[in-house]
Order: sequence, then structure tokens, then C-alpha cells
Amino acid sequence: MVELIDGKTLAESIIQKIKEKVDKIINLGKRPPCLAVILVGDDPASTVYVAHKRKKCETIGFKSEFFALPATSSQEKLNNLIKKLNESDEVDGILLQLPLPKELNSDKALDLIHPKKDVDGLTSFNQGLLCQGRSAFEPCTPKGIITMIHSAGVAIDSKKACVIGRSRLVGLPIALLLNQHNATVSLVHRHTKNPKDYTKEADILVVAAGVPHLVDDTWLKEGCVVIDVGIHKSKEGKLIGDVNFEKASKKASKISPVPGGVGPMTVASLMENTLKAYEERYF
Ligand code: NAD
Repeated sequence: MVELIDGKTLAESIIQKIKEKVDKIINLGKRPPCLAVILVGDDPASTVYVAHKRKKCETIGFKSEFFALPATSSQEKLNNLIKKLNESDEVDGILLQLPLPKELNSDKALDLIHPKKDVDGLTSFNQGLLCQGRSAFEPCTPKGIITMIHSAGVAIDSKKACVIGRSRLVGLPIALLLNQHNATVSLVHRHTKNPKDYTKEADILVVAAGVPHLVDDTWLKEGCVVIDVGIHKSKEGKLIGDVNFEKASKKASKISPVPGGVGPMTVASLMENTLKAYEERYF
């Protein structure tokens, strides 16, 4: 019988622990941690994600500063805002919601974020540290995935892991983190021939391809652990992942669902990183 890796419950327990720490900080008369969130334009998915992150800040007792820039904003305006937030003593973490409108250069904007305020772990400085195995802020989705695997009681050391997808946001950093935890990692992407040759060898499979229901039981090794990162809306309006949950459950020993898996853990990891940014400035 397959076991569920319940990201929602795990995320709630992480949020609760952070809230207790923040309550103590406030009782000491100090200001709470502050996350600044920048949204450029009105992409519907980004608007929902940002609202969700801000709501979580509120639940925890973090301050959240919200900067909504019009889609027509210049690169200079965005850059100046980031520079201002870097200098502010009241701001601990800066989150630039991606994707940006295509006229803007996200690499340039991200790299202006001070590495000590880069709670999303996406600046080239922090991603460089991640490559060297000494990251300051791990990107939130990969960080959440490692926490989920640990919490499920799965040892990563010496296992064969496979990651489908090599984006800068998810696939590549999770492959690096699994490697740091001493897994032997294969990275499958659009140009990989016969991807099942790799996935069927894997004890741990992380799927971040952005293709609805790409993976079913025919991709899996018996008894493997499956983490589904994908989020899509089906024709019926249901949230589904990159993994066909029902079919994959026939072979996997543990599997994360969509919704209620990686999504809530991404937000919980952002909150952990924001608290860390605050603590490193103030203690
Ligand atoms: P992306 O499009 O930037 O990257 C997708 C990667 O998958 C690419 O490297 C591509 O080569 C690879 N790929 C695409 N089709 C493939 C195929 N058929 N076989 C093998 N590899 C293939 O996407 P992303 O930003 O990494 O996100 C991936 C998915 O995860 C999306 O559905 C996204 O919405 C979701 N996501 C979820 C969270 C969360 O918190 N749950 C966070 C980030 C992304």
C-alpha cells in the first residue's frame, strides 16, 4: 500500500514552529521579520501565488511589504526598487515574483538582490554557492522537497535519484541538493533519449517537467519514492501534477500528492528562509 508524503501537514507544522519563534521575538519588543514581495504585471497565477505568500506572512506574524508594479514598468524602475529594499533596515528578505513581463531582464533584476536578502535563493551568487555545496539560501521548492523526503523517513545517502527537468528554479537545484546528500543523481530533460531507462533505475524520483501526467507506473521502479512538483489545472478544473497519481501509486512505496504536496512546502521554506535572513541580521 502506497504511503502519502503529506506536504500540507508538514508545512503546517513548520509554519506553527516559526510562528512560535516570531511570538517570542515580538514579546522581546523587537520588530518582526519582514518579507518584501515584488510583483510586476498582473499574471493571474503569479497574483494568486503572491497573495498566498503574503497571507502566510500574516498568519506567522511576519511583516509583508507588497510592491505591485505595472507590466509596463521600466527595468530602471524595478532595479531602483530592489536597490532601495536592499538598503532598508526594515526589510529582511526580498522576493521577486517570476516570471517578469518579457520586456524585463529577470537575471539582471535578480542579481541586484543582496545575497543576504535573497530568500528565494535565485541570485547567481547564491546559486553559485549551491553548486559548491555551501549555500546560504537554498531555493524554496528544492529545500521543501529535501525536507519532505527526510520527514518521510527516506534515507538519501547512497540511493539512486533521478530528477526530470533541469530548470534553474527546481530541477537543477534539487539535483544538486540530492547530490550533496550523497545520492547518485541522473538528470533527465527534453533532450534525453529513452528517459524511462533512467527513471526506472531510481529509488527516488523527482518530477519537475511541467507536463501534466507525464509519469505513470511504467516509468517507475517497484517501491520507489516519487515527488511530484508539477501543478496544472485539468480540463475539469482540478489541480493535477506531472505524475498520474493513481497509476504511479501502484508501484511507488511513497508519493507526494498534488495538491497538498510540494506546493505548501515551497511556501513553508520561503518562511524558513525569511526567518533565517532576519536571525542572521539581528542575532
Ligand atoms: P520549466 O518549464 O522551467 O522547466 C521544465 C524542465 O522540464 C525543463 O528543463 C525541460 O527540459 C524539462 N522537460 C519538459 N518536458 C519534458 C519531458 N517530456 N521529458 C523530460 N523533461 C522534460 O518548469 P519549472 O519552473 O521547473 O516547473 C516545473 C513544474 O513544476 C511546473 O508544472 C510548475 O508549475 C511546477 N512548479 C511547482 C512549484 C511548487 O511549489 N509546487 C514550484 C515551482 C514550479
